[in-house]
Amino acid sequence: MAHLRAGLKYIATAILAVITWFRIKLSFRPSLIILTYHRILPQDHPDRKLEQPGMVTTPSALRDHIGIMRSIGAEPVHLDEWLAKKRKGEQLPPLAVSFTFDDGWRDNFQFAYPVLKETRTPATIFLVTKLLDSDRTFWPEAVLHLLTSTGIPKGKAEFQWLIPFLPKRAISKAPLSLNEADQVINRLKELDDQAIISHLKLIEDSGLMPESPTSEKRSILSSTELKEMAAEGLVKFGAHTRHHYRLNRLNDLSALENEIRGCHNDLKLIKEGAVSIFCYPNGDITQQGEQLVQSCFDAACTTKTGWNRSDRNPYDLHRFNLHDGNSSNGRKLLATLGRGIV
Ligand SMILES: [Zn+2]
Repeated sequence: MAHLRAGLKYIATAILAVITWFRIKLSFRPSLIILTYHRILPQDHPDRKLEQPGMVTTPSALRDHIGIMRSIGAEPVHLDEWLAKKRKGEQLPPLAVSFTFDDGWRDNFQFAYPVLKETRTPATIFLVTKLLDSDRTFWPEAVLHLLTSTGIPKGKAEFQWLIPFLPKRAISKAPLSLNEADQVINRLKELDDQAIISHLKLIEDSGLMPESPTSEKRSILSSTELKEMAAEGLVKFGAHTRHHYRLNRLNDLSALENEIRGCHNDLKLIKEGAVSIFCYPNGDITQQGEQLVQSCFDAACTTKTGWNRSDRNPYDLHRFNLHDGNSSNGRKLLATLGRGIV
């Protein structure tokens, strides 16, 4: 049965890959494919143990993607430059590809930038500005670390908020597997980001957070790293809010202003490489948030999947989220891109 399932999956991805190929060859209108990455980590990097599987790509897969996209005729472009040409009605390449990275992980500098430099590939990193130069990270990584390191004690007050989201067997000494913890993170999205962060802070302040297995304390980019990447003009920086709060969970206009306009102001201080493009955290959009984004930025990336024709609304850019699971070889990458067509 498992063989049959694997065989059918292989055939399905092969068909999708062929569809992508034909779409490229038969396309008469300029299109832009935007690829999204989060973390770039080698296979043996200790941070992989603390990360959701759908967030990570190896540096060698990134290099392969760049090669494959070029080989199918896609011209790597800076996202802001493609948008500016479109705005002015200038000629666009028949097929373009933009490489984008969400969240501003330090590994983008350590492992993606050398590949971008070596292959002379332009890219945009969407920054969470208030996390730059800090040792802080995002709540899913902290929850993942907690759940995969230790069992959650039933009686302790600091963990009560977490208990309803756990599988029953987790209330014991045994830690969860990475996949089980990943499912808990999805369930926790019912709660507000700020509530989760303050619960985690209480656990940390009480000394109940297990020691991190990784030697590197800082996982987010620093200003020095931004400067170095911007110097060659290969990497530019867009906005991904100030704290990565999901905008549909912020009811208060001043909180929305702080996350959107505040991030725009922070970006202005990053003189080199800043571009006027916003990227919605978790893809969550509200009407009020959308209006604010449109008043501050020239364009916005969503988590909607698909190719962008030249008539695409610049505030509704579609992308393809890539990770080891959906793009580890050329067939899988093309099949993933094909899903935006069928
Ligand atoms: Zn994000």
